[in-house]
Amino acid sequence: MANRKRSIEEKVQSVLVALGQIKVEAAAREAGVLPSTLRYDLAKVRQALPEVLANRMPGPKPRNKPAETTAVVAPAEELVVCPQCGGKVTKNGTYWVLNWLLMLTMGWLGVQWVRIQRRRCKVCGHEIISPERARQAEARRAWWHQVNRLVGLSRFKLGLSVRKIQILVRFVYARQVSIGHIERLTQRVGRRAEAALARLGECRQAIARFLLYDETYPKMKKRIYSLGVAICEHGLIRSVRCIVRKAQDIPAQLRDVVGTHFQPEYFLTDLDVLFNKYMKAAGLKLTHLRDRVHLIRQILRLFDEAVRDVTLDVPKGLSMKERKKQRQLKRRLLRKRLQPILALVFKAFSPGYESICVLMLEGVVSQLSDPTYIIQTASVQMLARRLQRFINKHGDAINTLLQLSAEQDTPTTTNALESKNGIFKPFSLMSKFFPLPKRCQSLFAGVALMENFDVKTRGPNRGTNAMQRAKINLDDFGATDFFSAVGLPEPQISLAYITD
Ligand SMILES: [Zn+2]
Repeated sequence: MANRKRSIEEKVQSVLVALGQIKVEAAAREAGVLPSTLRYDLAKVRQALPEVLANRMPGPKPRNKPAETTAVVAPAEELVVCPQCGGKVTKNGTYWVLNWLLMLTMGWLGVQWVRIQRRRCKVCGHEIISPERARQAEARRAWWHQVNRLVGLSRFKLGLSVRKIQILVRFVYARQVSIGHIERLTQRVGRRAEAALARLGECRQAIARFLLYDETYPKMKKRIYSLGVAICEHGLIRSVRCIVRKAQDIPAQLRDVVGTHFQPEYFLTDLDVLFNKYMKAAGLKLTHLRDRVHLIRQILRLFDEAVRDVTLDVPKGLSMKERKKQRQLKRRLLRKRLQPILALVFKAFSPGYESICVLMLEGVVSQLSDPTYIIQTASVQMLARRLQRFINKHGDAINTLLQLSAEQDTPTTTNALESKNGIFKPFSLMSKFFPLPKRCQSLFAGVALMENFDVKTRGPNRGTNAMQRAKINLDDFGATDFFSAVGLPEPQISLAYITD
């Protein structure tokens, strides 16, 4: 009869028969209750029989408690007592976190997750930090440090756009960082780089006597503003500034670049006449020297103008075409006549002639004014006068410039400055996206600081960087490289956490 499904009536019936056989008097006596009480209770049992005997749906299986209970037994090193209140600590579920350690060390594996057991105090709710969680938290900090350094390098050395940096980070670490993060980081690094450049003049350093200054136009916002760059003879970029109002901004920049340990004596610029005014407005009393290349270029221009401005004494009534032909001929003749004189100018500025450069230029003027040497046409006379004026104006500065260069090997050109300008150029595309001069300025400050720490791999300065050449005391400066100077130090992670 096994497995036969019995009805409730059948079950109730059989139990009623069994209950009917109870000897109530005897049972009541044995239990020590009144027979009427027992009868009353048995009646209730009879009434409830259909409900008691009904088939019930099987409930949920009892939980597999044993496994859980063994896990509750914490390893010896794990805290079982709350450090806050002394209450009992129990497990409180698990959660998944990114495996930052794997991402830091093997990002290309793809994003991995790790399960963390949460442990919480039953009394006060305080969460106990598990060793795994601490390890992941440290790896997370290290990962962000490393990514931020990568962003800094990409931005300020490689000149990558925000989007390209995002692609690069994703490729290396299989995880994306936001555009906003890269932009905010760029600004933060830029501002710190500005502060670092501003500190340069206050650090102990090799004596620097030259302040080279130029304005450059790395295509910023349709030339609404320019970038003023100041370096010393060691090639160290000491200041970059967005120039919006020249008359205020350039003197302010010149004033700020000079510091306790940077007290230049000479101001070397191109021939822009306003630079002298700006220097004085800055309250500086430096000897103003002009770049040799620009000086030669200026003399060349005077000669070119003399050739261009030849006058023609021809009979009236000559056709326009004939007139033009005559003028061309006269120009050619004059250019040929001036050629050996111009050669003297180049010679005067070449090495070995430093002491007599101005004297040779005076000689050029007297040749130009000598009717036995060259026909004294109006344009030639004009050239002689202009050249004399040029010598009067720049003669002393040229003598000083060349004498210093011959005796102390100081620069005669702003070439070093112009090559720095070349470094800023590639960043101009990026800077176009910065509508504010201040933001641009901090970007270029970052580029400048990176350049100052850049060890040259070729050329005369091979193996050194500008900070070394200028002998900036790094203790005074407070950083040994670009990254630590802008608050992007190397990530610190315990070796034990990686090798565990
Ligand atoms: Zn507690």
